[in-house]
Amino acid sequence: MPSGHTPQAPAGDRPTGPRPLAPIPFDVEAVFPELKGASRAVTLLYPRAGQPGPGDSSVGGPLLWPADEPWPTCAEPDHYKPLDSPVGPEPVAMVPVVQLYARDVPGLAFPAGTDLLQILWCPLVHQDDQYAAGPRLLWRSTEQTAAGAVAGEPPRPHTAEEDYLPRACTVSPTAAVEYPNRDLPEGLADLLGERFEAMEAERGYDYFAVATTQQSKVGGYPGWTQQPDWPDCAGCGTRMEHLLSITATEPGGGRWLPLDDRDPRGGAAVPSWLAEADPAVLDTFGHGMCLGDLGGMYFFVCRVCPGTPYTHRYDC
Ligand SMILES: [Zn+2]
Ligand SMILES: [Zn+2]
Repeated sequence: MPSGHTPQAPAGDRPTGPRPLAPIPFDVEAVFPELKGASRAVTLLYPRAGQPGPGDSSVGGPLLWPADEPWPTCAEPDHYKPLDSPVGPEPVAMVPVVQLYARDVPGLAFPAGTDLLQILWCPLVHQDDQYAAGPRLLWRSTEQTAAGAVAGEPPRPHTAEEDYLPRACTVSPTAAVEYPNRDLPEGLADLLGERFEAMEAERGYDYFAVATTQQSKVGGYPGWTQQPDWPDCAGCGTRMEHLLSITATEPGGGRWLPLDDRDPRGGAAVPSWLAEADPAVLDTFGHGMCLGDLGGMYFFVCRVCPGTPYTHRYDC
C-alpha cells in the first residue's frame, strides 16, 4: 500500500485514460459468420504499477473507506500458505484488490444508488474454497462514502501469501470488443478450428490472439485459463453474469498491447499482432500476483436477485 492514503474528492484529474489499441486486422463475422452475435463489449483494465489514491480507480490501491465501518478481516479456521502449515486463529486483514468508479467504466452497470465498486480478499489460501483467497465485493455510493471517509492506512495482514498480495496499480479502462475463447461452444470450436489454422497460415494472425482477451477486464468473457466453470445463482438458479476478471498475466505483446507501450525499435512496420512491449515499461505491467500458476479470479453477479448477489471462480 503506498503512503498518502488521504481521502480526496473522487472527481478530478485522473492519472490515466483509455489506452490506444490497434484495430482488429480482419472482420471476424465476415470471415466466420458462425460467430455472428457472439461479440461482447469488454473494458480492459491495463493495470500498471503506480501510486493511485483513494479517489482513483485502481487494482491493489487504497480504497475510499467510511470511518464508521470496520476494516474487514477473515477468520476462517483453514488458513494456510501453500508451502506452510496452518497460520493460526488470529483474524487476517483483507487487502484491496479492485476499486472502480462508475465514471471510469461507463460499460459497467452499477446497482441503483451506487457508483463505486470495491473488491477485497483475504490474502491466504482457503482449503475449502477452491484454494483461493476469499473475496468480498462491495457496491457503494461515492457521495455517502466520501462524506465520512477515513484518513490513514488500513490494517495490514499479519500473514499473507505473496501470490495473492497485489502491488498498487493505476488502471486505464479501455473499451473494446471481444469474441469467445474457451467459451466457444464445443461444436463450434471443432467446426472453426481448421479455418482458424488456415487463416493463421495464410494471413499471419491467430483468431485467439487478435479477437479474444485473457487479461484483467470488466465484462466480456471471463479470462479463463482452464475450462469454463460458470456459476448459477444460488437464489434464482440462472447463470450468473461475468462481472470482472483479475488475471495473473497482462499482454506483453500482440494486438492487445497498447500502441504507446510498444517497443519503439519495432517501428510502424511491425504488424499489430506481432508488436512487443517497450522493455522500459514492461516492469510496470500488472499487479504482480501469480494467482497459483498464472491463473485468474473471476467475479460473477446476479442482477435479478435482491442485493446483487455475487460469487467467484478461481483457476490456476
Ligand atoms: Zn481468509
Ligand atoms: Zn439470482
